[in-house]
Amino acid sequence: MCRTLFALLCLFAYPGTPASAHAEPTIPTMQWAGIVAPTRESRTEIVNQGFSIESVVEDTAYGFVPAEVLDSLRLQGYEVTSSLAASEMNPQDFPDQDAVYHNYAELKAELDTLVTLYPKLAHLFSLGRTVEGREIWGLRINASAENAESPTALPGIVFMGGHHAREHLSVEMPLGLARFLLESRDPAVIDLVNRRDIFIIPQVNPDGSEFDIASGRYQSWRKNRRADNKCAGVDLNRNYSYQWGTGGSSKNNCSDVYMGPEAFSEPETQAMKRFLESRPNLKVLLSFHTYSELILYPWGHTYNDLTNARDLAAYRKMATTMAAWNGYHPQQTSDLYVASGDTTDWAYGTLGIFSFTFELSPNGWGGGGFYPGPGIVQKTIQANLKPALYLIDLADDPHRAVAMPETTLFFGR
Ligand SMILES: [Zn+2]
Repeated sequence: MCRTLFALLCLFAYPGTPASAHAEPTIPTMQWAGIVAPTRESRTEIVNQGFSIESVVEDTAYGFVPAEVLDSLRLQGYEVTSSLAASEMNPQDFPDQDAVYHNYAELKAELDTLVTLYPKLAHLFSLGRTVEGREIWGLRINASAENAESPTALPGIVFMGGHHAREHLSVEMPLGLARFLLESRDPAVIDLVNRRDIFIIPQVNPDGSEFDIASGRYQSWRKNRRADNKCAGVDLNRNYSYQWGTGGSSKNNCSDVYMGPEAFSEPETQAMKRFLESRPNLKVLLSFHTYSELILYPWGHTYNDLTNARDLAAYRKMATTMAAWNGYHPQQTSDLYVASGDTTDWAYGTLGIFSFTFELSPNGWGGGGFYPGPGIVQKTIQANLKPALYLIDLADDPHRAVAMPETTLFFGR
């Protein structure tokens, strides 16, 4: 509480930005820091200044921040509880300890294998190319479609991962889900798969993910690899157009939450836009991120609740139902802090798709943060199969969730 009061007092005592913040910036050293920010408003404020919050523990927000921004926050009176250079915090080596994780080539090989094993069910396609020219791969699971493009009357759902480069577990999760849906011999799963048009896009940002592991040491890289500015990269999950740039993102291209020069400036988000707009049967979306063990639903760009009470009731019921299964915490995205330009606000706000973000395991830095090791992969996939099956089931009409007694939930047995 002492820290809380101190931070609040300092917020009021030092409201301005120091003059030094206006000096010609130099290429910053990225820091990992903890900052006392006990309210969603104070957390939104530090994000607006370029702090990328990755988790909140009690009164403290933890995340990545350019050193110059951290200095500025200190000068404004924010209490910095810890900090270290990001380059010093990741001793693990992807190919050795974490060989179970799929790099870009291994991911493609795994998708090819699934298509070969299940040619009547699985169809591979590319959503488009990244800044560096890599294909963004998608897998369509549809028992009655002849290929990835053929039209269907079936209700659709899309799972995606890997918007953020260092969140490698968010790639493994949708990939593991795809494997489960194709391999399962459970009659209930087979019946469900036969009734739905399922899309899985495991790695939206392959350039970033490859960069994160390319040197043999993790880079703690978040953004894509746009290279035409002093500091590389745009935060793809701040680049979607719905209420773009209205808070919780940064115009500083060195920030981890850089929103980009304009909405949909990046080929990766453009590819997602084209894909989602071309599939009017899509009714539900789940975007996997790490970490913190949260189930998030719109809005992100405002503290306000959804104005559509019917949708809000369905979102809340779905989130709490899934939370009971995976043990995550359900909440509106902006309960943490405002974030504008993310996938889910755009997909729901523009296309009316019921859209969730899961922040996967671990629940804190103590569990390994972005690099939790190999042991967590299968546990995380297992924990989230039931929520995924539930969403697939509800893709015909998410509003069905409200009246569904829990005893009759699909897979609730
Ligand atoms: Zn993320």
